Amino acid sequence: MPRIAYVNGRYLPFRRAAVHIEDRGYQFADGVYEVVAVAGGRLVDEALHLARLARSLAELRIPAPMAEPGLRHVLREVVRRNRVRDGLVYLQVTRGSAPREHAFPRPTRPALVVSARNGEGPPPALREAGCAVVTMPDIRWRRCDIKTTALVANVLAKQGAREAGAYEALLVDGDGAVTEGSSTNAWIVTAEGTLVTRPADHAVLDGVTRRAVLALARAEGLAVEERPFSVAEARNAAEAFLTSTTSFVLPVVAIDGAPVGKGSPGPVTRRLMARYRAHVADHAAGEAR
Ligand code: PMP
Repeated sequence: MPRIAYVNGRYLPFRRAAVHIEDRGYQFADGVYEVVAVAGGRLVDEALHLARLARSLAELRIPAPMAEPGLRHVLREVVRRNRVRDGLVYLQVTRGSAPREHAFPRPTRPALVVSARNGEGPPPALREAGCAVVTMPDIRWRRCDIKTTALVANVLAKQGAREAGAYEALLVDGDGAVTEGSSTNAWIVTAEGTLVTRPADHAVLDGVTRRAVLALARAEGLAVEERPFSVAEARNAAEAFLTSTTSFVLPVVAIDGAPVGKGSPGPVTRRLMARYRAHVADHAAGEAR
């Protein structure tokens, strides 16, 4: 079945889906994006993703490419035309195309690109066994709360992790605290069973999965603290895990080659994995929005 992408008002065969070389996304990474999970053909936590998109756009002063109902329609249409059941839909908005000049062009007509595909995410065996991570300095800019396409520091971190034989890089700020993974939020469980993740400050992306897991954890009656934690605290934690739209809840079983806890996914992580799977299943069944 041929893949289809939406590009600035048109549904195009993948092969012909292209933007101009003077698109500011290409020139300056002057754009934002979202990745939404698709389960059973339905979008998971769509409202949270669209709210975050609106916030990212507002922070960069990029106008919305279209009103929200229209965008929701395009997302569904791309999912439908590509026959995606379980996978993801990707959307990117840039400030548009204009002669290269750093300052905003005027008037700006934002560009919108949407694509979708089946599959993605870590293989089931890794989800089951848990992953290894390595720590690295966080060399990104100071507005990581905005979901921009300026991801080269994240790209280098992920590649560094791969070359170290790890699945993800845990990024560490100047104070020795973990910010987040290169494409995931980072969590630990203390010896007392308290769940800890960094507050959604400017140093991290406020992950949609992070939000969902915080709500599920609170509903489970788990003690939750949103505060920074150090690399040492993470190494000595009872459990650790990552969250993201594509990884869901993914256990971390080693940090810089040393085992976390017993070196296998712990009970709190397993419980949250199950709760999050149920949350996705509710979306797939059309019982959540
Ligand atoms: N942090 C970063 C840097 C990310 O790129 C992502 C995934 N886009 C996340 C966290 C997780 O966010 P979400 O749960 O919304 O996918």
